[in-house]
Amino acid sequence: MDLYEHQARELFAEHGIPVPRAEVTDSPGEARAVARRLGGSAVVKAQVKTGGRGKAGGVRLAADPAAAERTARQILGMDIRGHTVRTVMLAEPVDIADEFYVSYVLDRAAGRFLAIASAEGGMEIEEVAASRPEAVARVPVDPAEGVTSAKACEIADAAGLPAQCADVLVRLWQVLVREDALLVEVNPLVRTARGRVLALDGKVTLDDNARFRQARWGEEPGGHHDPLEAVAAARGLNYVKLDGEVGIIGNGAGLVMSTLDVVAGCGARPANFLDIGGGASARVMADGLSVILSDPAVRSVLVNVFGGITACDAVADGIVEALDTVRLTKPLVVRLDGNNAARGRAVLDERAHPLVEQVPTMDGAARRAAELAHTA
Ligand code: GDP
Ligand code: MN
Repeated sequence: MDLYEHQARELFAEHGIPVPRAEVTDSPGEARAVARRLGGSAVVKAQVKTGGRGKAGGVRLAADPAAAERTARQILGMDIRGHTVRTVMLAEPVDIADEFYVSYVLDRAAGRFLAIASAEGGMEIEEVAASRPEAVARVPVDPAEGVTSAKACEIADAAGLPAQCADVLVRLWQVLVREDALLVEVNPLVRTARGRVLALDGKVTLDDNARFRQARWGEEPGGHHDPLEAVAAARGLNYVKLDGEVGIIGNGAGLVMSTLDVVAGCGARPANFLDIGGGASARVMADGLSVILSDPAVRSVLVNVFGGITACDAVADGIVEALDTVRLTKPLVVRLDGNNAARGRAVLDERAHPLVEQVPTMDGAARRAAELAHTA
């Protein structure tokens, strides 16, 4: 998840990185009051999770409180690269002498982090890297060692930044580590006419896998592209929307992936898949089935379970429970094998729902589900 500039600024400040005084608001009237508190003039900045706000007219200097109100009114509601501006940050204007670029980014291929720094900040770093690659320093950072003062001096040196920036580089590394970020970027990091170093704009991307440790940021609105994915996530299910016609439920990522392949091998396309995981209960099965059946693209459903920790009779109980709560409108092909398979099959035989069919093998079940998807 990306943070807004004002949230990044807050984290920087908490870790001792100097930032300009600033406040956030969604009202032009309040913007006027904020400008007054900041000393009269203010830089009014659109808060959207995309770069290039300056070029798009989303960063403007207002000379006095009345201008701040007018400017905020103009920027609020603006569309910047497909993002609607809902709030603005007003920051104390800074007299800029130099603009630098500094960031840490995860280098997945190399299994470590990369410090990227340049004495030519302000504009988009991709453009600098393309036109003047020698102006952008790239220094590998070993995550176990981190950025010590010595490492920070090495990065500053490589990029031609003043030695003063080293302290910011150390603190920025602490932001990355302590806040579970995959990317922290300051552009521009400025030196003022009076020689102070300040972070004027920040971008922080948090690692979603660490969300449980960073609860203060809450859930990202619109984080799920598909509404059913959001419903499934709220119930703790791993559901992924695809664009075919066979709904797939399985237990364990490996089995689910091979089920997708086998269904594709039978000439059908998976509509989605849901991994009910190990130790799946009847409740999970019922929730999963109701999610899969709510997808209008689904023409048949394949439940492929190999019981290990998961007992097949618990899965069968879940299917029966689901049949009582969800109206089954599409054919359901079930393959149960492994732990308690015989009992599971007996449970489904006893329920004898006209739309539920059992096939004992994975290949056979996939073939049948594909066939039903084409004829149903
Ligand atoms: P971005 O375009 O989304 O990256 O937004 P930035 O916050 O980086 O602002 C774009 C540019 O506006 C910066 O590179 C600065 O040149 C300028 N800018 C931002 N804040 C101030 C400020 O307080 N004073 C001055 N003089 N310029 C600023
Ligand atoms: Mn910027």
